[in-house]
Amino acid sequence: QAAAQVETVAVSGADPAGRIATLLAAQKAAWRADVNPDRATRDDRLARLDRMLVAWQDRFATAISEDFGNRPAIVTALTDVVPVRAAIRHARKHLKAWMRKRRVSLSWTGQPASAFILRQPLGVVGIVAPWNYPLNLMLSPLVGALAAGNRALLKPSELTPAFSGVLQQAVKEFFSEDEVAVVTGGPDVAAAFTAAPFDHLIFTGSTAVGRKVAEAAAKNLTPVTLELGGKSPAIVDRSAELGEAVPRLVWGKLLNSGQTCVAPDYALVPRERIEAFLVAAQAEVERQYPALSDNPDYTSIISAHHFDRLTRLVGEARDGGAQVTQLAGAHDPARRIFAPVAVTGAPADCALMREEIFGPILPIVPYDTLDEALSYINAHDRPLALYWFGKDKEAEQAVLNGTIAGGVTVNDTILHLAQDNLPFGGVGASGYGAYHGEAGFVALSKEKPVLRQSRFSGVKFLYPPYGRMARVM
Ligand code: NAD
Repeated sequence: QAAAQVETVAVSGADPAGRIATLLAAQKAAWRADVNPDRATRDDRLARLDRMLVAWQDRFATAISEDFGNRPAIVTALTDVVPVRAAIRHARKHLKAWMRKRRVSLSWTGQPASAFILRQPLGVVGIVAPWNYPLNLMLSPLVGALAAGNRALLKPSELTPAFSGVLQQAVKEFFSEDEVAVVTGGPDVAAAFTAAPFDHLIFTGSTAVGRKVAEAAAKNLTPVTLELGGKSPAIVDRSAELGEAVPRLVWGKLLNSGQTCVAPDYALVPRERIEAFLVAAQAEVERQYPALSDNPDYTSIISAHHFDRLTRLVGEARDGGAQVTQLAGAHDPARRIFAPVAVTGAPADCALMREEIFGPILPIVPYDTLDEALSYINAHDRPLALYWFGKDKEAEQAVLNGTIAGGVTVNDTILHLAQDNLPFGGVGASGYGAYHGEAGFVALSKEKPVLRQSRFSGVKFLYPPYGRMARVM
C-alpha cells in the first residue's frame, strides 16, 4: 500500500525535500508493517539485487563509461560489479549466523537470569555515493542495509548522470519504492537528503562534504558512517624489491586513473633509491599502459574541472621548484586523458602535498630513516589506507604499530578493501564507522541487549529496606 502511495512521485524535479520526505515516509510506514524481516525476506532482497546486477551489468558499464568519457567495461566489471556480487554472496551465506541471537554470560549478581543480544534493523538507511566507483560505493552499503533488514534510499553523484538514470530504472524493476528507491540531483538535493530524518546515513565522499553531512545528521541525531578520503601513503622500505613493489604500486595508483579513494596518494622512498624507483616506475607504466590515447584500459578523468585541477596541482609544484617526470604518453585534454607523472622535490606547502590528488600524479617524498617516514605520516591527517612494501619484519611491525590508518595492505595496494571479512572504514579525517561483510551488518543493526529474569529472582536482596545491607557494605 505504501508503495502504491509513492508510485506517482517523480524522483527529479521541483521540491526535492518534499519528494525525499514522501519516499522516506513510505519506507518508514513499510518498515513499521514489518519491523524485523525474517531471513527469507532479506535473502530474497539480496537475491533480487544480484539478479539486477546480472540483468543490467552491460547497461551500467555503458552508462559509467559515458559519464567518464572512457571507462573500460572491464574496469567497471572488476571494480564495481564483481565486488558487489561477491558481497551479496558473502551476506547470503552468512545471513543466518549474523541474525542469530547472541547469548551472553552473566555475572553472579545476574544469576540465574539469562541474557542475549538481538540484532535488529534500524529502519530506513540513506546512502550517498560519489562518482568514482558509482555502482560499488552505492550498492556495497546497500548489501549491508538489506542483509540487516533495512529499507534504503539511494542518492548517487550528480557527476554520473547516465549511471544514476540507469540505476533508477534498474532499481524500479527489481524493488518496490518502499524497499529501495533512488533520488537523483545535485548538491542541493544531496543536502536535503542528508537533512532528512533517516535511521542511519552512509556517506561516501570528500572530507569537506562529509563534515556538512555530519552536521546535518546531528540535527536529527541520525547516526552516520562517513567514508571519506585523504592522502594515503605508500612506504617503500629499504628491504623492498623494487621489481616487486613498483608494479603493485603503479597498478594501485593508475587503476581508474588514480580516481580511487584508497589509491596510494604519494610514495615515501629511501633517498638513495629514488632514481632507481623512477626508472622502474617508468618501465612499469609503459608495460601496463603501452599507449594512453586510444587505450581501452586507461580511464579518462571524470570532468574538465578535475582535469584542470590536476593540471594546476602539477603546475604549481613545478613553479615551486619540483621536478616532474613523465611516466608515459602525453596528455589529451580533449578526451581528458591525463598522462601519469611522478613529482619529486615538491614544496611541503603546495596543494599537491596538502590535498588528496585523486588522479595519476605520484609525488615522491624521500626519507633517510624509518622514524622520519613515520613522523611524516603522523604529522598529517589520518589516512584512509596505508601501504608498506618490504621484507624486514621488524620494520613492518614498526609501521603497523606506529601509524593509524583506515586499513592497510602490506606488500600490495588496494586489496584489503576487497575482502568481506575485513571491515572497511576510515579514521580521523578519512571518516568514521565501517562496513563490508559482518561489519556492515552490525553497523546497520541495533544490537539490543535483553535480560530475561528467571522465576527465582537472585537480586531480591537489592529490594529495600536496606538496613541490613547497609551494615555489611
Ligand atoms: P563529494 O564529497 O564531492 O560528493 C559525494 C556526494 O556528496 C555526491 O553524491 C554529492 O551529490 C553529495 N553532496 C554534495 N554536496 C553535498 C552536501 N552539501 N550535503 C550532502 N551531500 C552532498 O565527493 P566526490 O568528488 O564525488 O568523490 C571523491 C571523494 O570521495 C574523494 O575525497 C574520495 O577519497 C572520496 N571517496 C571515499 C571513499 C571511501 O570509501 N572512503 C570511496 C570513494 C571516494
